[in-house]
Amino acid sequence: MDFLYSQLAVVQRPLAFVATDPIDWKLYVQAFSWTVCLFESYLLLRQYPLYSKKTPPPVLANHFSADVFEKSQLYGKDKAKFSLVSGLYRQTIDSVMIHYGIYAWAWDLGGRLVAKLGYGPEYEIIQSIGFAVVLFFVSSIPTLPLSVYSTFVLEEKHGFNKTTPALFVTDLLKGWAVGFVFGAPFLSVFLWVFQWAGDRFIPWLMGFLISFQMIMVILYPTVIQPLFNKLSPLADGELRTRIEALASKLKFPLKHLYEIDGSKRSSHSNAYFFGLPWSKHIVIFDTLIKESKPEEVEAVLAHELGHWFYMHPTKLLFISQLHIFTVLALFPAFMHAPPLLRAFDFPKSVAAKPPTVIAFLLFQMILTPMEAVIGMAMNALSRKFEYEADRFACELQNMLKDEDMSDMGDRLGTALVTLHVKNLSTVWVDWLYSAYHHSHPTLTERLRALEGYKVAAASAHKKEL
Ligand SMILES: [Zn+2]
Repeated sequence: MDFLYSQLAVVQRPLAFVATDPIDWKLYVQAFSWTVCLFESYLLLRQYPLYSKKTPPPVLANHFSADVFEKSQLYGKDKAKFSLVSGLYRQTIDSVMIHYGIYAWAWDLGGRLVAKLGYGPEYEIIQSIGFAVVLFFVSSIPTLPLSVYSTFVLEEKHGFNKTTPALFVTDLLKGWAVGFVFGAPFLSVFLWVFQWAGDRFIPWLMGFLISFQMIMVILYPTVIQPLFNKLSPLADGELRTRIEALASKLKFPLKHLYEIDGSKRSSHSNAYFFGLPWSKHIVIFDTLIKESKPEEVEAVLAHELGHWFYMHPTKLLFISQLHIFTVLALFPAFMHAPPLLRAFDFPKSVAAKPPTVIAFLLFQMILTPMEAVIGMAMNALSRKFEYEADRFACELQNMLKDEDMSDMGDRLGTALVTLHVKNLSTVWVDWLYSAYHHSHPTLTERLRALEGYKVAAASAHKKEL
C-alpha cells in the first residue's frame, strides 16, 4: 500500500498549484464545455446534409422501399434538428448555472433545508444530500420540456411513441424515487469513505464502487427494472428451444430467459444479457420477437453470446476501473483547494474547508475535455467488439461443427436490416460524427464486414472437410 501512496504522491506534486493559485477555473470550465458543445453541434451540421440523400447506400438498396427510406431520412433529419437545439439549450442552462454561482446557492439552500430537520453544518454528509437534491431539481426541471417534446412530438410524429402521458409521469416519479432511494445511501457511503480514510481513500473507494456495481447487477433486474417493465419468462416454443440449445452448446450459464415488454413505451427493439459470471439472464424485446423469425432472433443472440465468449463486458469493466482509478488519483490535488471553490462563487467560510461533494463535482467539470476524448476511444473499442461478436456468429458453424449454422451470418444480416428498417435508423453516416457518437458500426459497415466473415468461415469449413 505504501508503494501505491508514494506513487500517487508523485502524480500529485505537479498539481500542487491547484490548492494555492487563484486560477479562473470558471472561465476554463465555461470554455471547455462550450468547446465540446460546439464541436458536437459541428458534427451534427456535418451529418445533416446526408439526410437529404434520395437513395440508400447500394448494399441496402434491396432492403429499403422508397417510402421507408424517405421516412427514415425524415426521422433522422428531425432527430438531428432536435439534438442540435437540445444540445445548445442544455449547454446554455449549464453555463448559466455556472455563471450565476448556482452551485454555491444550492449548497447554501441544501444546508438551510437540512437545518430545518435539525442537522447543522457539522453534518456534512446530510447537507451534501440536501445539496444533491436541490441541484438535481434545479438542473433537471428546465430540461423536462425536452423529454416531453422528444416523446410526445418527435417520436409520436414518426410512429414510435407508445408512452401515454400518465405513464410518462409515473415513470418520471418512479425514476426520481429510485434515484433517491439508491442515490442517497450511495452518496453517503461515498463521502463517508473520504471522512474515514482521509487522503488514503483510493483503494477503499474503489472497493466500494466495485461492490456497488456488483450489487446493482443483482438489484437492477430483480428490483428496479420490474418497476418500469414487465419481464416474463419466454414462452416455450421454437425460439426458446433454439436459444437454450445454443446456450448449452456454448456452455453459457443461462439461468433465465425473459421477454420484456419494451413495446409498452416505444417500438424500438433489441436484446441483451446480464448477470454474474455463473448465472446469466437473457432478455429479448417483444418487438424483436414479433418482427423477426426465430432463426433470426437466434442469430442476434449468437452475436450477444459472442460478446460473452470474448469477455467484452469484463474487459469494459476492467477499463472502467482503470478510468475510475485515474480520476481518483488526480482528485486529491483538487480536494483541499479553496481557490477552486472561490472561483465558483463559494463564500470564504465554505471554501476554507471544501466539502468533498463540492470539490468532486467541480473536479468533474474540469475533466470534461478529458472525458470527451475517453468517450471517443471507448466508442472505437466498442465498435471493434461489435465486429468481433458479428464474426463470432459467422464462425459458430465451425466452432460447434453444426451445418445448420452455416447461414448464421445471413440470418444476422437479415435481423440487423429488419431492426434498422423498423427503427428507421440512419443509414448514411458522416465518418467523424460516427467516430464520436457511435458505439456500433453503421449498418452498411456491418453488412460489408459480415460478407467477409461469411466467406472466411465457409472456406475454413471446406478446409476441414
Ligand atoms: Zn453487440
